[in-house]
Amino acid sequence: MGAARRVSMADVAREGAVGLIFPRRCPVCGDIVRPRGRLICPECAKRLSYVSGATCLKCGKELTCQEGEYCLGCSRRQRTFDQGIALLNYTEVSSASMAQIKYENKREYLDFYSQEILLRFGERIARMNADVLMPIPVHPSRKRARGYNQAEELARRISRQTGIPISVDVLIRIRKTLPQKELTAQERLKNLEQAFAVRQEALEPWMRSVLLVDDIYTTGSTMEACARVLKRAGVRQVYFVSVCIGGDR
Ligand SMILES: [Zn+2]
Ligand SMILES: [Zn+2]
Repeated sequence: MGAARRVSMADVAREGAVGLIFPRRCPVCGDIVRPRGRLICPECAKRLSYVSGATCLKCGKELTCQEGEYCLGCSRRQRTFDQGIALLNYTEVSSASMAQIKYENKREYLDFYSQEILLRFGERIARMNADVLMPIPVHPSRKRARGYNQAEELARRISRQTGIPISVDVLIRIRKTLPQKELTAQERLKNLEQAFAVRQEALEPWMRSVLLVDDIYTTGSTMEACARVLKRAGVRQVYFVSVCIGGDR
């Protein structure tokens, strides 16, 4: 006791985090974050490469100087989704952090990423006027094996902070994706499209505009496949938000 600071529930609420009671681990280095109450070490925050400057009007990826308004991927391929936003460039640092979330049960790191997404893109997400959040689903057997779907964990956090409802029973994964390596881009997409389905009976009439949520966007074929099945089912707008983007060049 003595000089130790008493932590009240009001403090916890004010800090908006459980970090005052339970030490938080840094999504980049994995060590306990100091000072307490923060979600990332100040030094580690600098190691993340935030999407900045001119971005693709379609997917939100950073543009190189050779590209115009759209990135190479979006100018070459059909895009059924309306628009996307992404927080980070897909680098070694961000990919290692995503792997920890996905395979090492470091779901708490998503508190940091969802907070960053809302700090940066809160207004844009509000302007999208999405009726519902839908995480990119994983196959039920994969979810059982891991215990959770990281995209759903992220979507739940965004839902809590924005009030946009989340639906996990409309867009479903009906097949595990076959190995994609030897396939052409066309075949990959076909393969993926058959992996997703919309449960029409769960798709409510008010779900006209959907914001898809995922951790990593690379070629965009997963997002495209989901946008196609949703629009085919009658959804009017499909947006997405992803923590990382890139890695397909
Ligand atoms: Zn750190
Ligand atoms: Zn693009």
